[in-house]
Amino acid sequence: MSKDAEGAGFRPVVGIDLGTTNSSVAYIREGTPYVIPSPEGDVLLPSCVLIDTQDRVIIGKHARDGLVAMPDRSVAAIKRSMGSTAPVTLAGKKFLPEEISALILKELRSYLIPIFGEEDIEAVITVPAYFSDAQRRATKRAGELAGFIVERIINEPTAAALAYGLNHSQGHKNILVYDLGGGTFDVSVVTVDQGVLEVRSSNGNRQLGGEDFDWRLVDWMAERVQSQFGVDPRDNLRARALLKDLAEHIKWTLSSENTATVESPVLLVDNGTPIMLSTEITRKEFVQLIQPWLNETMALVSDVLSQANLTPQDIHDILMVGGSTRIPQVQSMISEYFQQTVHSEIDPDLAVALGAAVEAGLKSGALSESGLVVTDVAPFSMGIAVAEPLSAGRWGPGFFSPIISRNTTIPCTRTTTVTTVDNGQTEVEVEVFQGEDRMVANNFALGSFRLTGIPPAMAGEEPIQVTFRYNLNGILEASAQIISTKKTQKIVVHDGLERQSAASFQASQARLESLWAHGPEVTEQEDALDAFDTMEDEFGGEGDMLAGVVPAGNQSDAANDLHQEAEITLADLAPYLSHRSPKISGKAKLLVKNLEAAANQGNLAALQDALDEATDLLFEWEASF
Ligand code: ADP
Ligand code: MG
Repeated sequence: MSKDAEGAGFRPVVGIDLGTTNSSVAYIREGTPYVIPSPEGDVLLPSCVLIDTQDRVIIGKHARDGLVAMPDRSVAAIKRSMGSTAPVTLAGKKFLPEEISALILKELRSYLIPIFGEEDIEAVITVPAYFSDAQRRATKRAGELAGFIVERIINEPTAAALAYGLNHSQGHKNILVYDLGGGTFDVSVVTVDQGVLEVRSSNGNRQLGGEDFDWRLVDWMAERVQSQFGVDPRDNLRARALLKDLAEHIKWTLSSENTATVESPVLLVDNGTPIMLSTEITRKEFVQLIQPWLNETMALVSDVLSQANLTPQDIHDILMVGGSTRIPQVQSMISEYFQQTVHSEIDPDLAVALGAAVEAGLKSGALSESGLVVTDVAPFSMGIAVAEPLSAGRWGPGFFSPIISRNTTIPCTRTTTVTTVDNGQTEVEVEVFQGEDRMVANNFALGSFRLTGIPPAMAGEEPIQVTFRYNLNGILEASAQIISTKKTQKIVVHDGLERQSAASFQASQARLESLWAHGPEVTEQEDALDAFDTMEDEFGGEGDMLAGVVPAGNQSDAANDLHQEAEITLADLAPYLSHRSPKISGKAKLLVKNLEAAANQGNLAALQDALDEATDLLFEWEASF
């Protein structure tokens, strides 16, 4: 390939911040991330969708205006419903949350036409670190419905740190990313060390953001109207929307002024009486209203620091992300806590999209010279269902035994040893879950498989090794091996559409296509929604709670676990030693050498590093054959 062809040969990959309130799209041009504006020149697209009275679909700021004028024909903050199978009603029609998100993404897709034409475009889409697997899958599906190829979903704080890391790849720095947007709060500790960006810990609340502040102000105003007129304006859809809009403007004003006027001449007409509102609110009063939420963010900041084993003094830089960090009280709380001034070299509104573009550039090769390398943390724990002893001889099924704990650096491989419950037991059902609850019933089922052919033995005597591998693309491979016979069984849990019925995807697609073409013509959508429910039953419902395995042995023996992982990984690498591609066989040999050396020297840190590297490569190789 000539140098020119190579230069032009980068796949088009864009980064997208699909926000609760605002969305934006960015890409890498000549080594620098840029946000791509709308044809009208706006860099932020309000995440609002409106279907007007002529059944036209309108996205963005005009749809946002519709929230007041046509509240039943418009929708905002759909991100809060992502992953839910409950349809939302818009202009009398039902839509799944990801279909609404797809409309927003499709609008962003249209901004790219002047740059990339109608070519296939790959997208990296960001989600809050706290999004569950179901919410990530819904986000990926939204991207694909909008016509993007979505290979990677990354965490918003990771993206923000990447935007920062591109210009700070030298030296060693601990950064706190504080992201307070419209609907979600996320906080992470990220270390940038000679270009290697490592997310150390992540925390947040996905129901906390500027929207809550607006609604709190709506309540404050409604209480005033109520005491004056005895009418609750929140009962009137239009008045409620008017108050919400007013609340947001007051909030913005109070970010720069000390007092805001609260003025609405005709909120509604009640039995011929015009109901109005005219008062004032000070910044101090407003801060009092929202202080409980702000305190909660600070408690999460403190948690995330302790998870990373750091104190406030260890933080070198603070990255403020999200529109709500413009509230002066937020900035002063943070500066006080960290005893340093908060400076924002990156636009808080655009940091996530710019960082998603950096990830896109690392993926496409457009930034391969930057020297940046990313690791992330598992956003939730992943493990298996086990039985636990209740009283003499009795077992309680359905307990969750985490194998990869939340906040573990990924890519990673983790192993645990379990055993049988009954005498002579020859089979176990290995059920894989994600979540933080002690009982699997309250966690999310990812899948299950059966391991048969266990040599009959007394309960607890036949050890079974369960290994989880998790990579940066969020793909989990779970395997179980009967140690005595080496018999292995495994499943790969893809994060994406594979587990989804093609029928329900096509139904969504058809529904959206008809919208784009002629407005919402589809009348009967129940079938598709039913299909979606069935899919959820199949994969998200309660599994057959077979209490097949129990934890055994000394799980806290990290060294032992690492050595076992190394053994399994060495076996997995074996076939690649004689691979026809010299690049792969060479790499496999090197990995085997490193693993063996680290294991023999008992160098656990080196062993962990070698295992992590092998994990990612094995995924890559397995995926490509
Ligand atoms: P998201 O990530 O949820 O899409 P953004 O980061 O775009 O959200 O932030 C949107 C939120 O920021 C909204 O609640 C908006 O009202 C709020 N916001 C924007 N500007 C200001 C400001 N100057 N003062 C206070 N809040 C603001
Ligand atoms: Mg955001």
